Amino acid sequence: MSKISRSTFTVVALAGVWVPFHSAFAGSGSTVELSEIARLYSMRMQMVSNKIVLKNRYNTLEIEENGRRAWINDVMFWLHEPCRRSGRTWAIRKADFQYGIDPVLRSYTHAPKRTPMVVVIDPGHGGKDSGAVGLKKVFEKQLVLDISYRMKNLLESHGFKVVMTRSGDQYPSLDDRVDLARKVKADLFLSIHADGAASSAAHGVETFITTAAGFDSSNHYGKGGDRSSVLNNRYDAANAMLGYAVQSNLLKMSGRSDRGVRRARFAVIKKAPCPAALVECGFLTNPEEERLLRTEAYRSRVAQGIVNGVRAYRTLVSRAKR
Ligand SMILES: [Zn+2]
Repeated sequence: MSKISRSTFTVVALAGVWVPFHSAFAGSGSTVELSEIARLYSMRMQMVSNKIVLKNRYNTLEIEENGRRAWINDVMFWLHEPCRRSGRTWAIRKADFQYGIDPVLRSYTHAPKRTPMVVVIDPGHGGKDSGAVGLKKVFEKQLVLDISYRMKNLLESHGFKVVMTRSGDQYPSLDDRVDLARKVKADLFLSIHADGAASSAAHGVETFITTAAGFDSSNHYGKGGDRSSVLNNRYDAANAMLGYAVQSNLLKMSGRSDRGVRRARFAVIKKAPCPAALVECGFLTNPEEERLLRTEAYRSRVAQGIVNGVRAYRTLVSRAKR
């Protein structure tokens, strides 16, 4: 493996001492108090307007009162359920700590054993399915294929083996895409999309990971009421590491606004046989982002950002080896 220069991509500094989650919060029910989290990470806790802010010299965690938005080092990370007051303190769901915050801040306690080598890139849509259509009639399926090829070249130059679910204007079914990942023994699955919305004002980039079992999906596309456990839930912690690494690096390279790491049960990620994320690279229905997505320079920066995220994830996994 080539030596990785730390200046090229963002990884999170390691926080706190090595205490496995279960022994850290054994027997404390389905919620975790923010004061317990502060103690575990040796962070100071204070209220700043409507946010509870936990901070040490390496990391900052901010959580909105009665809200689902949290920020880990300024990158938005949606909670499954709002942070609620519980007696004299504030608490979040244990799953949001165990499968969200903790894997990001203490990746070494959650990282998979195997260093990722095989990456499946899934350019969204294709063939009969154009995906989102821009104001200037640009098709999502074309843009995401271009971004995917750029990612493939970059990943291969960093020693990854890359398999794409489509190489041209074809439409593999959602199951075909996941089956391919299984067949090639993928270590990571990345589905690449551009967004569309009814309002032209919607803008920014976002990264979806699979919703934890027992919670509603956080996005408006998710089927209401679905709280099922899915195959990809076995990678919940690694998904959080991957989603955060991709979103933080994509933000840095794209310069677009942060819609956060979000949860959904999209078919391609919920059935993925490995850690997986679905990336939305900007809105084709927003005039400024459509203009950017039509430029090679922006597509190149987006591809570089996602690849930097994958490299950051690989670094975290390699570092965690004990
Ligand atoms: Zn799409």
